Amino acid sequence: MNDKPKADAYVTGASEIVTGLSEDPARLVRTNKASLAIKDDRILSIGPTCQVEAEVDVSAATVIDVAGKMVAPGFVDCHTHLVFGKSRSREFALKMTRTSSEIEAMGLDIGIPASIRMTRQTAEDELFASAMDRLSRMQRHGTTTVESKSGYGINWPDELKMLRVNQRLADAQPLDIVSTFLGAHDFPPEIDRNRQPERTRYIDTLIQEMIPEVAESGLAEFCDIYCDDGYYTAEESRRILQAGINHGLRAKIHTDAYSGIGGSALSADLPAISADHLNHTSPAEMKAMAKAGVVGVILPALDFAVAHPRPVTPRPMIDAGMTLALGTNLNPGNWTESMRFVILLACRNHGMSLEEAFLAATIGAAKAIGCDTEIGTLESGKKADIQIWDIPEFEHLIYRMDFNPVVLVIKNGRIVFDNDRS
Ligand SMILES: [Zn+2]
Repeated sequence: MNDKPKADAYVTGASEIVTGLSEDPARLVRTNKASLAIKDDRILSIGPTCQVEAEVDVSAATVIDVAGKMVAPGFVDCHTHLVFGKSRSREFALKMTRTSSEIEAMGLDIGIPASIRMTRQTAEDELFASAMDRLSRMQRHGTTTVESKSGYGINWPDELKMLRVNQRLADAQPLDIVSTFLGAHDFPPEIDRNRQPERTRYIDTLIQEMIPEVAESGLAEFCDIYCDDGYYTAEESRRILQAGINHGLRAKIHTDAYSGIGGSALSADLPAISADHLNHTSPAEMKAMAKAGVVGVILPALDFAVAHPRPVTPRPMIDAGMTLALGTNLNPGNWTESMRFVILLACRNHGMSLEEAFLAATIGAAKAIGCDTEIGTLESGKKADIQIWDIPEFEHLIYRMDFNPVVLVIKNGRIVFDNDRS
């Protein structure tokens, strides 16, 4: 007689399983000689092999023998602009030796306005195909959940086109896509943002037309904004994000990237689920964000790509008690699909420990998109979103700078990438 729950799949033979949080939020739990049993899309049991085999019937399970490799939770990429028209490779290369105004003088449009123009000019099917391509590479780098923002339309038809692509991506491939409406990424390039009536007209369109439509269609879970000098003021951001909240869209905010104009204080006040960038955030704002439970999303690849004059400093945020998350910020001006690369930058350039950065790329990032009860750590009952690394020690994740250690990815309990078969 055997009334133990039956596993569908059994991951065994790991040198070590990195399960996730411990009592001490800065420390990871890592278990030697551990195994993991899966039923449907969930983890049925995880821990020392003898304990798992005592709890669960694995006799009929598909055995995934990982032969001395390391097992870890899939990465959560909580900040991306995954859907975009074309690359800005020429601008990026020119920026190595020239200033933005020198490049503009050469007749090139640059930055977010360039991305808006190219995304508006690209058909929905083409946006979908190029984003699918990027997603398949993100999966091979161990990412199992991706947040994806609109924000290169900045008019209703093109914002809607981007949100529809998010929905199609969610249906067409295994990774979970979390959709964010970012109609306030910029002002429409065809208006003069310095003229108050034109500015107000677009903000009113966002509040009265676009946000209600997004909420009603169910095409996004979050409403986001770019609150910084030259973009939306803190007061405008408050009106727009509050309108989103009133329609059931949780608030996110890009803020303090190039100036401190009150966006972080606003994020604590609303409160927003996350505040992202944070290069100019004050100690008082950090305290308020920690108290309000706002997750700080750090984007080291952006600071690297633009050689940021004021790189973000996570240490005071950690000391203030904030939960931190990492994201790639994948976009045409900062193109990385690898969370491992972002972890390396967070450690080397921003003073995070490997443990802190790994937690920020998994459970911290899951918190930034409201999914931390489902993903971000390997625990019984959570989703079986797993990556397997061919490295001898955890530290090799950042020690070897330019390689991809991922050999197998399991998403919702199913193998979606196997390096031996690809
Ligand atoms: Zn962004």
